[in-house]
Amino acid sequence: SVMDLVDKMDENEWNYHGEGNKSLVVSHVQMSRVLRLLKYSSEDAENAPQTTEETFRQMENIVDFSNNVMSPLLGDKFVHSGEVVKLPLEFVRQLSIKVQHHRPAWRCDKVMDIYSGAALCLPNLTTPSIPTHNPPLCVEIKPKCGFLPSPEHVSKDIKTKVCRHCMHQRYKVASGKWKRKSLYCPLDLFSGNRQRMYFAIKHLIEEPQNNFKIFKGGKCIHGDRDEMLSVSSLLQKLRPYFSCGNGRNKTVLHDFIQVLVDSLLSSDEEGDEGVERRLEGRMVCEASLCSTEFLRTDPQPLPRDSVLGRILQVQLLDSLDIEGLLPLYRRVEQYLHHFPKERSRLQIDGPYDKAFLEKLQKCPAEDDGSIEYAVAKVQQYRVAMTAKDCSIMVTLVPRRDEEDGSERAAFSFSASILDLDPKPQDGVRRQQRLDHRVVSAYLRDDPGPS
Ligand code: ATP
Ligand code: MG
Ligand code: MG
Repeated sequence: SVMDLVDKMDENEWNYHGEGNKSLVVSHVQMSRVLRLLKYSSEDAENAPQTTEETFRQMENIVDFSNNVMSPLLGDKFVHSGEVVKLPLEFVRQLSIKVQHHRPAWRCDKVMDIYSGAALCLPNLTTPSIPTHNPPLCVEIKPKCGFLPSPEHVSKDIKTKVCRHCMHQRYKVASGKWKRKSLYCPLDLFSGNRQRMYFAIKHLIEEPQNNFKIFKGGKCIHGDRDEMLSVSSLLQKLRPYFSCGNGRNKTVLHDFIQVLVDSLLSSDEEGDEGVERRLEGRMVCEASLCSTEFLRTDPQPLPRDSVLGRILQVQLLDSLDIEGLLPLYRRVEQYLHHFPKERSRLQIDGPYDKAFLEKLQKCPAEDDGSIEYAVAKVQQYRVAMTAKDCSIMVTLVPRRDEEDGSERAAFSFSASILDLDPKPQDGVRRQQRLDHRVVSAYLRDDPGPS
């Protein structure tokens, strides 16, 4: 295990694997393991490197939150929490030099933490240790929020018509973050309707931004790049897996997406009745280009126990929208201002243990004016934020079925959910400001200062 190796770590055995906004990930050349290191902004004083002790505390918090809160909510078959390891500082410094030129330029506003030696060691989900004739294919989807807020709580009508991701797209293109708009709409992906899901995935392939990646044999072959992507070169790489290796581009794309839809909808639960229908009318986004024909076809409920169903149910813990939550957040902040010592009893910043999850789940349906109610709603919102920001990793392992004489490629698939970090308490404030900016920019069709 890596735990035994930490004393003799060799940077030559680790390669750049990928990164997000908060962490950078390296993978081992042989073992199916990754190390996830924190990043911080090289300019922003707010995110200045914390002490070593604080960084370890933060890492432990991430593991506890994943184990004790997200895993029970999402299902432990999907979640791998990993463990905190302490790395030799010399190794981390050499590693940061080694990975630097593999990093996409647009991510380089942040630097890797080389001071604490803290890292999270996780199984490498892109290299499942199952022997196969073709290297395994893994698809990572960052689906974002899959429903519209309830009209009771929002001040702007547009929020009940156009989903947050689609509004944000206009803002991101106008402010220069992305060159082209993505046509992906999360509401189509979470719809459970195979045709809508098909189009959602097709749009992710065409314009992946940071929502879509494909790994072949553990290496990223699509998405997460600076250079322009070509769908036809992707299909070239996928061809050996589909239609006996001689399919036309259109068939390869079609079969690939169908396999993905299958794996996203697959559920172990017998007679899965689907995510509850209180969402009627909140699962369709006006900005989506999906033909209205598909929208009218019989609703196929999203299976509750599927990876998408599980994520959607946790996202729905945001029941008040940021606007409905804000008064409760203010109640908490005011209370903590007067009674700062209550912060730890109320477990505002953890510990993320069983008691934390219980308080969040036992929250009364109606506001009784208590501080406990307000805290529980804020915590539910933070948990929902994590579920809106996580990624799904779908692993497709090619299978050679002798009996199955069909032309379609056969895969066995499994799904995992990653990136389950707790969102900080003051993240609620930031969300509120961002929500205001995104919505008013959408209404004005003008991004304003970013
Ligand atoms: P975000 O900006 O989405 O919040 P983040 O900074 O929190 O991202 P992660 O999403 O956890 O970081 O990791 C960055 C990338 O590293 C992922 O998108 C994924 O491609 C890869 N990755 C992370 N964990 C694993 C894993 N266990 N196995 C394989 N790849 C992983
Ligand atoms: Mg991520
Ligand atoms: Mg993250």
